[in-house]
Amino acid sequence: MDDPSAARLFDRVFVCMKCHAKLRTDADKVRAGKAKCRKCGYSGLRAKKRLRKGKGK
Ligand SMILES: [Zn+2]
Repeated sequence: MDDPSAARLFDRVFVCMKCHAKLRTDADKVRAGKAKCRKCGYSGLRAKKRLRKGKGK
């Protein structure tokens, strides 16, 4: 059962490409470059992919 609201929680999680800290923010802000890592201030963030079913690892 895929719960869209649960999936959304993961969709909003981003990872700092510099220090790899995780933070939750809006994808719109990330695209606009307004979201920054609160740890190092770097604005290069990437969406954290859900690691669930699929690749059985
Ligand atoms: Zn960072």
